[in-house]
Amino acid sequence: MAARLTVLAGPTAVGKGTLAAWVREHHPEVWLSISATTRAPRPGEIDGVHYFFVSEDRFTELVESGEMLEWAVVHGRARYGTPRGPVEAALAAGRPALLEIDLQGARQVRASMPEAYFVFLAPPSWDELVRRLVGRGTETEEEREARLATARVELAAAAEFDTTIVNDDVRRAAQELVSLMRFTPDGKQR
Ligand code: 5GP
Repeated sequence: MAARLTVLAGPTAVGKGTLAAWVREHHPEVWLSISATTRAPRPGEIDGVHYFFVSEDRFTELVESGEMLEWAVVHGRARYGTPRGPVEAALAAGRPALLEIDLQGARQVRASMPEAYFVFLAPPSWDELVRRLVGRGTETEEEREARLATARVELAAAAEFDTTIVNDDVRRAAQELVSLMRFTPDGKQR
C-alpha cells in the first residue's frame, strides 16, 4: 500500500508551524516537507531545516522547471512552495508525508493529487487566533492587519477539508494528526 500524503493547512497564526515542529521532533516516522521561500530567515531559522531560503530568480527557476508541487504568494509578500522531488521520494519509500502549507497551496495539491488527505487546523476561537497573531510580535502593524484579513477568509475554508483538528494544545493536536496519518487512503489502519 502506497504511503499517503497529508496536507495540513489553516488560518495564519493558528499554530501550523508549531504543530509541524512538534511532529518533526516527536514523530520521526513522519516525513515533513521543507518548503522553499523567498522571504528572509527569522532569527534562529536554519537554511535547509526550516526552509530553503532562495532568491527570487532561483524560485522562478524552480517553478518554471516544474519542480514545485504547489506554490503561492503568502500575505502578498513572499513566495513559498513545496519541492516536488522529495515528496515523491518519501511516498515511494513508504513514509507518511506531511505538508504544512497555506490554503492556496492546499487547493493546488487537491487539484493535482485528490487522493491526498486534507486536514484543517482551526483555532479554539477567533479571539484566541487574534491573541496568537498579536502575541507573536514578529510582524509590523501593517503585516498583522494583512494576516488578519487573510485569516478571516481562510477560517471559512474548513468545509473544503476532509477533517478539522482544533489546536487547543499542541501535544494533543499533534497526536490526533499523527494518528489520522496512520490510516491508508482506503480508510484502513496501517
Ligand atoms: P512563515 O513566513 O510564518 O514561516 O509562513 C507563512 C505562511 O506560509 C504559513 O501560513 C505557511 O503555512 C505558509 N507556507 C509555508 N510553506 C509553504 C509552502 O511550501 N507552500 C505554501 N503554499 N505555503 C507555505
